Amino acid sequence: MADSLHINNRAKAQNTYDAIVIGSGISGGWAAKELCDHGLKTLVLERGRDVKHIKDYPTTTMDIWEFPHRTRLTTKLSQENPIADSCYAFDEATQHFFVKDKEHPYIQEKPFDWIRGYQVGGKSLIWARQTQRWSKYDFEGPARDGFAVDWPIRYEDLAPWYSHVEKFAGISGNKDGVETLPDGEFLPPWEMNCPEKHIQEKILAKYKDRYVVQGRCAHLTKPNDVHLQQGRGQCQARNICYRGCPFGGYFSSNSSTLPWAFKTGNLTLRPDSVVHSIMYDEKTNKAIGVKVIDAHSKQELEYYARIIFVNAACLNSNLVLLNSVSNRFPNGLGNDNGLLGKYIAFHNYRGNINASIEGFEDKIDYGRRPTAVMMPNFRNVYKQEMDFLRGYMVHYSAGRGRMGDTSEGASIGGAWKDSLTEPAPYWNVFMMMQGETIPKASNEVKLSKDKKDDWGVPLLVANVDYDANDEKLLKDFLQQGSEMLEAAGCKNINAFDNGRRPGNDIHEMGGVRMGKDPKTSLLNKWNQLHSCSNVFVTDGACMVSTGTQNPSLTFMALTARAANHAVDELKKGNL
Ligand SMILES: Cc1cc2nc3c(=O)[nH]c(=O)nc-3n(C[C@H](O)[C@H](O)[C@H](O)COP(=O)(O)OP(=O)(O)OC[C@H]3O[C@@H](n4cnc5c(N)ncnc54)[C@H](O)[C@@H]3O)c2cc1C
Ligand code: SF4
Repeated sequence: MADSLHINNRAKAQNTYDAIVIGSGISGGWAAKELCDHGLKTLVLERGRDVKHIKDYPTTTMDIWEFPHRTRLTTKLSQENPIADSCYAFDEATQHFFVKDKEHPYIQEKPFDWIRGYQVGGKSLIWARQTQRWSKYDFEGPARDGFAVDWPIRYEDLAPWYSHVEKFAGISGNKDGVETLPDGEFLPPWEMNCPEKHIQEKILAKYKDRYVVQGRCAHLTKPNDVHLQQGRGQCQARNICYRGCPFGGYFSSNSSTLPWAFKTGNLTLRPDSVVHSIMYDEKTNKAIGVKVIDAHSKQELEYYARIIFVNAACLNSNLVLLNSVSNRFPNGLGNDNGLLGKYIAFHNYRGNINASIEGFEDKIDYGRRPTAVMMPNFRNVYKQEMDFLRGYMVHYSAGRGRMGDTSEGASIGGAWKDSLTEPAPYWNVFMMMQGETIPKASNEVKLSKDKKDDWGVPLLVANVDYDANDEKLLKDFLQQGSEMLEAAGCKNINAFDNGRRPGNDIHEMGGVRMGKDPKTSLLNKWNQLHSCSNVFVTDGACMVSTGTQNPSLTFMALTARAANHAVDELKKGNL
């Protein structure tokens, strides 16, 4: 089949592929895998440097005392990178996988933390790997509640593709039978510790409308054949995954989709290739390829293909499309309705609660489990009942620190060192919210009119903020979370607004949303631009709404679905 799909244009032959994928992160890796599996000669263009699995994880086996600053950032590094440093995962051991503020500036019309990883693998190397399916209530939300536009798909459309990606990526979890957080194709779950189980029991006893389940995450608790074929092994529960995992214990493009795609013989990966724009041909009404700036030589190159997958991560995908101007599309590729870049949304992470719990002093925690406990959204699920739209997911965990880390231990000298070997006198509990934000036209990204980056690409301007709904959601979580912890017998409950800026959740979505109507959306139900059908956008940019779940599993499923549709359409001669 592959041969019939190849373009045989001699003049451009060297730079011509069946498919081009822009970006090699979580979604780009999936596009590459699916397209290569179906025999398409696929070029993945990645703006960052190459990162080879295992070989390029320089800190992965280092012990804390081997770092000059015990993994902490120097003041200089921290001050030079206020944006990157706002991300909890940015430290001395991981900083090489994060974009440094000065190297890739953008314009914040309103404060917005744009956390990026420009390298082969993108943010798949540094994500926290929490992975939950959306439920039918999430897809039905915008139509029922009258915001954004109706999703052109429903849970049933995506369910088989969730299964497809879960089996390959390896997702651990428990079959909980909860309608608002559908079960997946799970590897064995991690275990809750005793205080977590206790809190679960108390919440379930008091609130009949709430569920408390073990976290689901992209870790190989018990690898299957397909994972061993990828060269990956069982997770060792070290929880220093942000440095890259030499066991391939967690899912990343580098350990999973990209090596798989390479094995087909159909993948060409070109790192250090900044995609400037997508080239459009007015005669055929199709995209014909992409313009690339070599990251080092700044040489301009062109690559051609019959289909193009845009997977540069939400805001960069918006940027590439906005910068792809032609006579037909003066405001950006596919932007007939002027909505490209608008309706950006994210997750509201502002609510945190700290507490302590007594009664488990004879227990200690063991191992470094890479997930926490999850409570699917319980607000406005079956009908609108609160004075705000939508709701929030809750994550909580309990841990027992060391005496020396508490105010009750000595704080200096030998006594402090000794107290570091003693377990703390109580367990700490931490709870956080993951709230749905409502997409709106005023939350937008656009191109700077006069400022460009070192590769001649206009800088991104971010104009994204919270609104009154987010404030109400936050207030409700702080009340409900405190009440739940109190019901569980927790003490010293401290509920607070952590003041995190938009973007700091690292779940940016929207700007190129899907929809049924080309007047109000950019993409159709297969993630194709309504007005340029051989361009597919399958990362967070395509999202109509945000749900309350961690989003990347949904990006993977949407990507696999769209890639398989693209292959079918190519076979039928429709693209
Ligand atoms: C610390 C942290 C924790 C997270 N935790 C979770 C979690 O627990 N669960 C979850 O679901 N999500 C989580 N996320 C979010 C998750 O990482 C993203 O949703 C996911 O990586 C998005 O996949 P992507 O393919 O769209 O983008 P990425 O993985 O970021 O990949 C995009 C790639 O495109 C490249 N690129 C950008 N512009 C261009 C261009 N012009 N030309 C060529 N290449 C380009 C980039 O260099 C990058 O490699 C977390 C993120 C971070 C940083
Ligand atoms: S916890 Fe598991 S996935 Fe993370 S670094 Fe350790 S072995 Fe790898």
